Amino acid sequence: MSVKLIAMDLDGTLMAPDHITVTEKTKSALIKANEMGIKTVIATGRTLSVINNVLKQLPFIDYVIYSNGAAVLDRCKGENIYTKPIPADIVSKIVDIFERYPVYYEVYSSGLSHAQESKSGFFKNKDLPQEFLEFYMQSIQNHNSISDFAKNSEIEKINLFYFDGEYYDEIKEQLYALGGLDLTSPVSGDIEMTSAGVNKGEALNGMCKELGFTQEEVMAFGDADNDIEMLQFAGLGIAMANASAECKEAAKYETLSNGEDGIAHAIDKYIFNTAKPKIIVSACLLGENCKYNGGNNFCEAVDNLKEKFELVPICPECFGGLPIPRVPNEIINGRAVSKEGKDYTKEYEDGAEKSLYVANECNCSYAVLKERSPSCGFGMVYDGTFTGKLVKGNGFTADLLYNNGIRVFGESQIDKLLNEFGF
Ligand code: SF4
Repeated sequence: MSVKLIAMDLDGTLMAPDHITVTEKTKSALIKANEMGIKTVIATGRTLSVINNVLKQLPFIDYVIYSNGAAVLDRCKGENIYTKPIPADIVSKIVDIFERYPVYYEVYSSGLSHAQESKSGFFKNKDLPQEFLEFYMQSIQNHNSISDFAKNSEIEKINLFYFDGEYYDEIKEQLYALGGLDLTSPVSGDIEMTSAGVNKGEALNGMCKELGFTQEEVMAFGDADNDIEMLQFAGLGIAMANASAECKEAAKYETLSNGEDGIAHAIDKYIFNTAKPKIIVSACLLGENCKYNGGNNFCEAVDNLKEKFELVPICPECFGGLPIPRVPNEIINGRAVSKEGKDYTKEYEDGAEKSLYVANECNCSYAVLKERSPSCGFGMVYDGTFTGKLVKGNGFTADLLYNNGIRVFGESQIDKLLNEFGF
């Protein structure tokens, strides 16, 4: 199933470690995916006002899941296609709790962050780069009373920042006791609150229903606990190398870290490479000097297939342990016998088994094999007299691949193969 939607968390995933930049390598992989018609969605705990710098770097992004999944923006329509705010009575109780403690918090509404001026002195920067912090702080709307502001607003998310001190357990207990909330901690000491059932995975699920995509068509990237549901939902859930242990467990695959262009690496591996079908090819047809006399059977038409297919070279006789050069063999009464009369059937059968293993491991349903060879020939092979005469029959490997459902073509049938693929 091909990927039709790529969902990406920001911090620790899409963004470089400076939290501000999308690297050129990641950008060009996403541009290429976009040109292939693949939709892209940013899925972030941040609110809309602090992702403008990301959207400036990636203007083609189609959707934004923000505030941990409390809202989804369709950038083309310029409107939210999904929102799930925290019920007003719960917001009021949360604000009452925070007012009793020396803590800093923000409430997110309509894509903006709002804070109470009297609480700003309690903000502690744990590890954010200064440049990012300055940019972030400029985006905050300050109020005299968050309680008054919240009474007249839909609140998507509330964030309590960096307070791993003496009040952490006490406050967390009170928040759990309220019920109706989902709590996550993407960073130690941070608590993010959304309405129960709100998460990036649910928002992604809703989007897919709206757009008609199946789970198998979704590739998702994340690194933190608030990405877990999204990674579990996606057919191709991929954790960054820098992800939490829980996040890695939720994902099916792992890629490099955000500092090593992990997203670009995985897009290249799972989308661009797999976009080309894989086929098994006799290595000697690609110019490998694995033929019995130490030469090769290079064939330009076969070599040109690499533009349309991912070629998987095999040499069954080498797989069977035969040396280069070697005495030539032909098939006599179903046995592989050398010109000197020695029986090499066991080596030919081993080579055929190993070739089938490679074909299955690489998900190859097609093979292009050297015609007439006692290993690779299909339909006609040398007759066992070592005089160049042909008889009907298959080489050991061609026969085994064919009997296991693999379509086998010779080097003179490339047009037929291309025709089957519609090229
Ligand atoms: Fe070529 Fe097949 Fe012979 Fe190897 S076994 S040299 S791939 S024809």
